[in-house]
Amino acid sequence: MALYAQPIVRLLEELERLPGIGPKSAQRLAYHILRGDADAAERLAEAIVEVKRKVRFCARCFNFAEDELCEICDDPRRDLSALCVVEEPRDVVAIERTGEFRGTYHVLQGAISPIDGIGPDQLRVRELVSRLGESDVTEVIVATDPDIEGETTALYIARLIKPLGIRVTRIASGLPVGGDLEFADEVTLGRALEARRDM
Ligand code: ZN
Repeated sequence: MALYAQPIVRLLEELERLPGIGPKSAQRLAYHILRGDADAAERLAEAIVEVKRKVRFCARCFNFAEDELCEICDDPRRDLSALCVVEEPRDVVAIERTGEFRGTYHVLQGAISPIDGIGPDQLRVRELVSRLGESDVTEVIVATDPDIEGETTALYIARLIKPLGIRVTRIASGLPVGGDLEFADEVTLGRALEARRDM
C-alpha cells in the first residue's frame, strides 16, 4: 500500500526539488497546501507559472526583467560611468537596498568554480567585455561574494578589464568571509561599497 495518494507523492517530489527543501519541509508545505482552500493553491500555482512566463533576463545586464531591459537599465537617471559586477540578480537587490549606488549593473549569473566545471565561458563575461567596449563606463566595481569563487572571479575580471583602461575596484572586506553578499545587512554592504579599493 502506498503511503500517500499519487497526487500527494507528485507534489512532494516537486517540492523536494526546490533548494533548501528536504523531505520534512516538503511534507510541511504539502500539508499546508492541502489544508488551505482551493483558491490559495491556485494563486500559488498561477504565480509560479506567471513568473516563468513574464520574467526574463535583461538584454543588457542580465538582471531579471519584464521587458527587454530591466528597470535599472531603462532608468535615464542612472549613472552610466559606474558599473557594478555581481554574481546573481539577488545581489542587485541587496546593493539597491543600501541606496549607496546610482550606477548600473552587470549580472554574471554565477561565479568561476573549477570544481563545479564553471569557467568564464559559462558566465556572462563575454557580454560584459563587449558592453564595456561601447560604453561610458570609467569604473567597474566588482561586488562578487567574499568567498573563494567570488575572489577568483574578481581577479579574473580585473585582469580582463584593466587593460581596457577602465578603473577596477573591489568592494571592501568587512563582509563576512565565505558569506553571501545578499545576507549582508544594508549598512555593512553600504560601507563595503564606499570603502572599495583599486584592484
Ligand atoms: Zn538591465
